[in-house]
Order: sequence, then structure tokens, then C-alpha cells
Amino acid sequence: MGKVTGFMEYERLEEGYQPVAARVKNYKEFVIGLSSDQSKQQAARCMDCGTPFCNNGCPVNNIIPDFNDLVYRSDWQNAIAVLHSTNNFPEFTGRICPAPCEAACTLNVNDDAVGIKSIEHAIIDRAWEEGWVLPQPAATQTGKTVAVVGSGPAGLAAAQQLARAGHSVTVFEKNDRVGGLLRYGIPDFKMEKSHIDRRVTQMEAEGVVFRTGVLVASLPADSKVTNWAKETVSADDLKAQFDAVLLAGGSEASRDLPVPGRDLAGIHFAMEFLPQQNKINAGDKLKGQLRADGKHVIVIGGGDTGSDCVGTSNRHGAKSVTQFELMPQPPEVEDRPLTWPYWPYKLRTSSSHDEGCEREFAVATKEFLGEKGKVTGVKTVRVEWQGGKMQEVPGSEQVLKADLVLLAMGFVNPVATILDAFGVAKDARGNAKAGTETSAAYQTNVGKVFAAGDMRRGQSLVVWAIREGRQAARAVDEFLMGASLLPR
Ligand SMILES: Cc1cc2nc3c(=O)[nH]c(=O)nc-3n(C[C@H](O)[C@H](O)[C@H](O)COP(=O)(O)OP(=O)(O)OC[C@H]3O[C@@H](n4cnc5c(N)ncnc54)[C@H](O)[C@@H]3O)c2cc1C
Ligand code: SF4
Repeated sequence: MGKVTGFMEYERLEEGYQPVAARVKNYKEFVIGLSSDQSKQQAARCMDCGTPFCNNGCPVNNIIPDFNDLVYRSDWQNAIAVLHSTNNFPEFTGRICPAPCEAACTLNVNDDAVGIKSIEHAIIDRAWEEGWVLPQPAATQTGKTVAVVGSGPAGLAAAQQLARAGHSVTVFEKNDRVGGLLRYGIPDFKMEKSHIDRRVTQMEAEGVVFRTGVLVASLPADSKVTNWAKETVSADDLKAQFDAVLLAGGSEASRDLPVPGRDLAGIHFAMEFLPQQNKINAGDKLKGQLRADGKHVIVIGGGDTGSDCVGTSNRHGAKSVTQFELMPQPPEVEDRPLTWPYWPYKLRTSSSHDEGCEREFAVATKEFLGEKGKVTGVKTVRVEWQGGKMQEVPGSEQVLKADLVLLAMGFVNPVATILDAFGVAKDARGNAKAGTETSAAYQTNVGKVFAAGDMRRGQSLVVWAIREGRQAARAVDEFLMGASLLPR
């Protein structure tokens, strides 16, 4: 423990943000990280609890009290070693993790939690600046080959672990760049893509081969998922050519809203809108980009994806942005004795909301209205929730202007044709069926085919994808070698 009285002496300090007026002019990151001295002071607030609930609250089980202590002692090099021992990509989580660890922090019982995420952010940014993040190629090669389908955080974490265990790893990605939703989903203003590029360089030096623009199996003809593939590889070829295959293709089928008027022009899935801006930021030219300039934008769905549509629409210069959420507005402050150390139910206001957005809670969309085939409005109704059941409030119908409607209601499951091509059984929600415990962890019903990340657990978080990628890598290593030294 760094400083015994630290938690009594120092207040929690949040990371800074560039002012709204400046940051909405571009797509760059705008969070101002803690300085070394600030990080040290924040780390001193950690009480090194006998039972560190934060460590359990973190899906990759980051060893938080240890890195806090090391930062307090200015031993940044060992701090990054501790952080990397559980997390391949702290620069991703240090930026975009919702930090369930902080909800679980013991200080959060009656005070403000330790700023764990901001300390993680400071450690990894310092490590890159100092040149401490280097390739770690395996000392010996096993001669075994592994195909990883999908280059999101699950596929990347698995590929890095497997390459470091000495296997020959090839990552197949249908899009033109590596990164999954980190690349073509999460906007640059939350995470700039250079963070992915330098990890790709590191992993290539560790022996990982990336094959972008290659679709494994096929997509349905009417599929609206991102796909810039120029080549296709069949599931059978992959099974024949590799000793093991890990499916980490995410959960890409967006939830639709089949109400009258859905076929009007101007109504799109969030995942048709967001990737285009990321491509343009990367320097690509796109004909007919979906834009929000001068438009009344309605975002349907109150989660992260919806919030990213709000931030992107404001950067385009939307006339107005309104976000709908079907559930009632949560309380501003959680009931801590009831929820700690678990993820609390409370109102979450993102930096994108602060940039300008009307938020409507307990509202359902009845119909899209239009003229000449184009959407012009949305008909809504207020809803009430009783005993888990939703009821419309009579007489509460309203019509709101809309020139662009973005559907951000989450993802139902992975694209079925991909799992079907491998003959992989699905669970009740349509995800790849594979457990996480026992000696058959992450294994599907098909010999030598494994599954991890959103493709296995359904839509989730980056930190969960990293956890699953790491654990699946160990399972694959065990399957190939009979035993594994990779951490679980
Ligand atoms: C807009 C948006 C914002 C989000 N914001 C956050 C956030 O702030 N914090 C957070 O923690 N989480 C966030 N998430 C969730 C998070 O991004 C996902 O949970 C995570 O990326 C899942 O990782 P994954 O590796 O399982 O899959 P993905 O990241 O979905 O990657 C799967 C990859 O597989 C590729 N692929 C699929 N099928 C094939 C195939 N047949 N052949 C070749 N390639 C294939 C896809 O093209 C894709 O690149 C957000 C999600 C979205 C959509
Ligand atoms: S990865 Fe997320 S949950 Fe884990 S320590 Fe970092 S911010 Fe907390």
C-alpha cells in the first residue's frame, strides 16, 4: 500500500476534457490524462484492501492494488509489467472501459472510488512514450498453426497470446483494416486508431500474420454488416489448413425496428453510419457518406452506440439531436448499499451527451412518417413499466421532426451464416455455443473450432472480449500441446 492515509488526504480527481466548442470541431481524442504527479496522488488513495473487490470487478482481473502501489512509488516500468500481465491492451481499456472495477472499489461504499481507469491510462501512455512496449516473440516455435477469424479485441488478444506461446497465427478480417469495432464502430474521438496500428506492428514483429479484406465463409445477400472483403475463404479450407480455428467474429446482426415506415429513406442502422466516419478520418474517400449536417437527427437506443451516434452527429453539424430510450430515466445517484460492489443502476451521461442532445426516456417509436419516400418525422408514445411489463400511456402520442434516424438498439447475435458454415451449434440467443469452464472451455461442438468474444457471449464490452481472447488462447494452446503455461 502506497500511502496509509492517502484515502483520507486526497480527493478523487477526474481526467480533464477539452471544452465542448473546441472538441466538436474535429474527431480527435479530447481527454486530458493525469500528469505523473496527479497519478501518484490518485494511486495513493488506494487502501490495498485485504479483499480487493476491484480486482474481481475487473473482467481481466487487473491487479489494481499492486499497480497503484508501484505508481505511488514512481516505479512505472514495473507498473506496466503488472498491468500487461493481465491485459494485452490497456491503452484500449484505459480509454473506453466503463470501469466496473471502480464500481467495486471499497472506497465507493461511502466515498469516491479510486480513479483506477485514469491510472491505467497514465501507465500505458507512459510506457509507450518511454519505449517500454516491445515485441515479445516466442523463444521457440511449436510448428502448430492457428486461424483466428475476426480482428476485434477478442481476436487480437487471442492472437497475441498464441503467438507468444510459439504458434503460427493468421488473423482473417473481412474489413480493410484490423480492429473490429475498435476500428469501425467506436469513434476516433473516444479512441484514435493509431493505438490499434502500433499494436498491429508489435504483433507482426511477434509473428502474427494479418489477412485483411478476407471474408471467411459468407454473408447473407441483404446483410448490412461492414464488409470490405476482396477475397473469400471457405470454412472447410480453414479447417483443413489449420490445426485450430478460433471464431472471434463479434455479434454483428443489428436489432431492427420493424414499425410502419421502416423502409423510408433516411433510416439507418448505427453501424451503417459510424464506420463511414471512421473511414473518412483514416483518409479514405467515400461516395455519398451518410451525414447529419443541418438535419434533425433521432437516435433510437440509449446505450453506448447511441451515444456515439450523438457525438458523431454533432461533429457533422446536426440541427438537433434527440435520443430515445425505451426504459424510464434511472436515478442520478445509485443506491450504494443495495448495489455495491456490482454495476449500479443509475443515469449515465456521456461526454457526447454533454455536447448537445435531448434525451427522451420511456418513449416508444410507433411509426416513421415520410414524404416522397423520405423520412420526415417519428411518431412516438410514452410508456410506463409495471411489473416488468410495458404499457402505452393513452393520449401521449407525439410527432417529432426527423431527417435522419439512427437505429442503435444493440445487436441480436452473430451473423448466422458464418457459424452455420462451420457447423457450429448456437445457444438460445443465436451465439456460438461454447462454455468457459472445464477442459473443453471455449470449444464448440466442432472438433478444433473454438469461439470467443461477442461471437460467443453476445454483445458486450472490450474488456470482456480481451478476457475471452486470453482465456480462449489458453484453451487452444492446451488443446494443441496437452498443457499450457498461458495465464487463465
Ligand atoms: C458503436 C459501438 C460503441 C461501443 N463502445 C464501447 C465502449 O465504449 N466500451 C466498451 O467496452 N465496449 C464498447 N462497445 C462494445 C465493444 O466494441 C465490443 O464488445 C467488442 O469490440 C467485441 O469484441 P470482439 O473481438 O468480440 O468483436 P468485434 O470487435 O465485433 O470484432 C469482430 C471482427 O470480426 C470480423 N469478422 C466477423 N465475421 C467475419 C468473417 N466471417 N470473416 C472475417 N472477418 C469477420 C468483423 O469484421 C470484425 O472486425 C461498443 C460497440 C459499438 C458497436
Ligand atoms: S480494464 Fe476496465 S475494469 Fe479493468 S481495471 Fe481497467 S478500467 Fe477497470
